[in-house]
Amino acid sequence: MLHIVVCVKQVPDSREIRIDPKTNTLIRQGVPAIVNYFDLNGLEEALSLKDRFGARVTVVSMGPPSADKALKQCVSMGADEGVLVSDRAFAGADTLATSYVIALTVQKVEEVWGPVDMVFCGKQTLDGDTGQVGPGVACRLDLEQLTYVEKIEQLDEKRREIVVHRHLEDGIERVKAKLPVLMTAVAELNKPRRASLPGVLRAAEYKPIVWTTNDFANLDRAQIGLKGSPTIVGKTWVPEQKKIDTQMIGLDKGIESAATDLIGQLFSTELPAKLGWA
Ligand SMILES: Cc1cc2nc3c(=O)[nH]c(=O)nc-3n(C[C@H](O)[C@H](O)[C@H](O)COP(=O)(O)OP(=O)(O)OC[C@H]3O[C@@H](n4cnc5c(N)ncnc54)[C@H](O)[C@@H]3O)c2cc1C
Repeated sequence: MLHIVVCVKQVPDSREIRIDPKTNTLIRQGVPAIVNYFDLNGLEEALSLKDRFGARVTVVSMGPPSADKALKQCVSMGADEGVLVSDRAFAGADTLATSYVIALTVQKVEEVWGPVDMVFCGKQTLDGDTGQVGPGVACRLDLEQLTYVEKIEQLDEKRREIVVHRHLEDGIERVKAKLPVLMTAVAELNKPRRASLPGVLRAAEYKPIVWTTNDFANLDRAQIGLKGSPTIVGKTWVPEQKKIDTQMIGLDKGIESAATDLIGQLFSTELPAKLGWA
């Protein structure tokens, strides 16, 4: 049976985030925490492979104790187990330290439940947004990495081969690789399912497994948390908003004549210059 690990991060809902204009920092108060969107695409793909081939799906997350809600959500959707890696010593991690801890977690998942065939990450998070953790984990575990996966075309369990489509800026790349692999998921991969009623009932009772620093035998404390994070945020700022002239078009005359007016104006000598196109 396949063994699939899905890495999920709990993030503030970016649709609700505002920026304090005085300090240029994020206003986090009252912002709900959600599972990073692309991680749900990774989970959905793992669950659909489970539906088709049979698989154990283990979800892992490094975060504060409150991130157990994210794991419970994944269990309500159909994940078998959720592991929360949580300890004050992990706090303040940059992508280097995060990928170190996630890689150790995948190794420990293998020790407990057996060899892992696939690891899913999202292509990036809604908050940190670097897209570095997935490739970092793949490098540390020496896994073949398939980034920006938008489709799994084929999985041959016997030959341990997978064929995927990678979503690139200038087209699609079709890649064949040998398992085990780490894939990063894009939104085009699938539409995440809703939780089922039995899933919701299971998740209500479910307590995610919590691993702290004490659970990792070979943990190098110099590589975790703030101490293990060489990234320095030099400055943050809000991009300047450019103002351009806009014009409201009344639709009282009907959409067709409004559109005709607009096209007329676009080809007049003034509007392109006003809009800064000329
Ligand atoms: C000095 C410093 C201090 C920081 N302190 C904190 C802090 O205290 N708390 C905090 O939340 N962030 C903190 N950050 C931000 C932190 O660097 C990133 O959130 C984190 O390393 C992940 O990077 P990312 O969000 O860019 O992930 P990406 O690389 O964009 O994520 C890609 C994918 O990797 C996986 N992934 C990423 N993070 C996790 C995770 N934690 N668990 C499981 N899977 C994951 C997901 O599948 C995700 O879709 C800090 C950054 C710096 C530079």
